[in-house]
Amino acid sequence: MLRSLLLALCTVSGFAQQLPNASLLEQPPRPERALPCPAVDSWSTPAEKSCYRTTPRYAETMAYVRRIAQAAPHQVRIERFGVTGEGRALVAVVVSRDGVFSPAALHRGKRPVVFIQNSIHAGEMDGKDASLALLRDILITRKQARLLERAVLVIVPIYNPDGHEHFGPFNRINQNGPEQMGWRTNATGQNLNRDYLKADAPETRGFLREWQRWLPDFFVDDHVTDGADYQYDVTFSIETDGPVSGWVRQTLEPELFQRVTASGHVIAPYLEFAGLTPDTGITAAAATPRFSTGFARQQNRPGMLVEMHMLKDYRTRVTGNYELLRALLEVVNRDATKLVEANQRADRETVARGRAHNQKLALRYEATGESEPFALKAYRWKVEHSEISGDGWVQYSHEPVTISVPRQTTLRATVEAKIPAAYIVPAQWTEVIARLELHGVRLKRLTKPWTGEVESYRCATPQWQVQPFEGHHLADWHDTEQTPACIPGRERMSFPAGSVVVPMAQRAARIAMQWLEPQGPDSALRWGFFDSIFEQKEYGEGYVLERLARNMQEADPKLKAEFAQRVASDAKFAASPDERLNWFLRRSPWWDRRIGLYPVGKLDSLRGLPLPKPPARKEADQDPDYDPEIPDRAGDDFGGGTYIFSVLHLPCLSTFTGKSWGAGSAGPRCAVLRHAAPMPRGS
Ligand SMILES: [Zn+2]
Repeated sequence: MLRSLLLALCTVSGFAQQLPNASLLEQPPRPERALPCPAVDSWSTPAEKSCYRTTPRYAETMAYVRRIAQAAPHQVRIERFGVTGEGRALVAVVVSRDGVFSPAALHRGKRPVVFIQNSIHAGEMDGKDASLALLRDILITRKQARLLERAVLVIVPIYNPDGHEHFGPFNRINQNGPEQMGWRTNATGQNLNRDYLKADAPETRGFLREWQRWLPDFFVDDHVTDGADYQYDVTFSIETDGPVSGWVRQTLEPELFQRVTASGHVIAPYLEFAGLTPDTGITAAAATPRFSTGFARQQNRPGMLVEMHMLKDYRTRVTGNYELLRALLEVVNRDATKLVEANQRADRETVARGRAHNQKLALRYEATGESEPFALKAYRWKVEHSEISGDGWVQYSHEPVTISVPRQTTLRATVEAKIPAAYIVPAQWTEVIARLELHGVRLKRLTKPWTGEVESYRCATPQWQVQPFEGHHLADWHDTEQTPACIPGRERMSFPAGSVVVPMAQRAARIAMQWLEPQGPDSALRWGFFDSIFEQKEYGEGYVLERLARNMQEADPKLKAEFAQRVASDAKFAASPDERLNWFLRRSPWWDRRIGLYPVGKLDSLRGLPLPKPPARKEADQDPDYDPEIPDRAGDDFGGGTYIFSVLHLPCLSTFTGKSWGAGSAGPRCAVLRHAAPMPRGS
């Protein structure tokens, strides 16, 4: 069997057929593979040298980057911004035309910082090889030297080095090359592209430091798709709102389409289909802050998701990714001032909204159902019934066809929260506070204990997901207007000294709100950081509660009637002795009123709080001219609480599904096996 398989692999020509999944992906091979190999010289990238058969390992990638830095020492700085769990350095290559590497000086000069992140899903490394070629063409051959005219680049070649070095030919079954590649998650199985807000992973913590240091003007996250087949090799979406969105939608996006098309690649907005086949239409959604681009949006910066199409050969994908980055940088250099000023204005508007604290922030969105026709460059397909899956088997041909499909265009906010003057987080919730600190959110600490009236929420007990997701069991409610998950209300609450006050008049206010509003899609409560508030910690013995109930009924005939009515009308309640007795405990002074009470308060004002005297004004970026804490007097209107924006951007939902471990599978829970695994230093 093995021999005949090997024979079959060897008789077809072209490298692509050597891939172990070649026969799974498509037959016969696509015409784009016929391209000749690029001419090779001493500055060819490792991928170019192999004619895109291979992608370089971590060490080889770093060696290439070091060689570039040695050849252009004045223009390149290599920064180490963290260490992975297995001990590999997280490296950013910073590139500046004139050797100015001070974020403050660059902000002052209105020079946009473009942050290009690669290999977060380390099997999707197209952006890494595109970035190496781009660095070479900017700094060595200087064919693209103009891309540094105004912009400064912070390029992370491999954001997930541990995943990258989990190298092998069987890591991406849907992907057409290279021969071997890295793995989706980091070494502890964390999908880093779900970790931007909860910040569990060392990679994320390093990233957040680097983000705050540079506060980039434009963020790019390079990926490769999963999902349907179609003609496009380059797809992308840009998450944005606020002042910069006009430039993104009206200028940048049309120019990206035009410039990438002119380079010979086929480009589309990122495509997520409603159903099994493309004719079901293209959906719209907003990336929540667990995703890189959703995080960037909450940071008031445009975040671009790049998704190269998995079924295109590696050369087409790397060069397509290169052309998209080149086009982006051309427009960013030309419109540098416009971009930087729009971002600064977005920061000032966020500060002003915090200062006014009379608006709402949208936490969750859904598609409105509005759509427009989209001319989709598809491949003809057929659907056959499969006796294996019992479902439809979609088979794509290579016959191009353009079809019109509905494309959802708008989103509306489904959950909103009122922006307070500040949040106050009790000192004992140390892990929640630690995340705010990792995000560089400006905090003040109470110098003395304080008791006062705040707004908070009483939350119904959520359902926790049975299957773990990113190492957590997410809390969820099936809330409706009739039974909302969390009801806001005034509460008198006590906060010990050291409790943290989070003023909303700061540029990172939206990140803090997403973390602290319990119904936010990626809130601390949702990720399980507040699970213990739903636990009953003291119980009454039945024979004690029996007396309590009898005494209470005797003292209050109305209560007695209410109880009888509940027993008569609720069979589940009537059948539970514990619930029946607890019904009285809940109405007694022995009941713990803190169960379900969200311990974080929302404040209308900081007046009266025991806070340290404010230090002399000094901004984190030490830039006297760039003060994002000063509101823009010209106009701070964000358009009220319901912010509807047009969608030319769809988040990476195809990769959202993660890896299912087969709930309810009949196999043994844990099998003992022997397995040789290399252990990193420091294990
Ligand atoms: Zn990805």
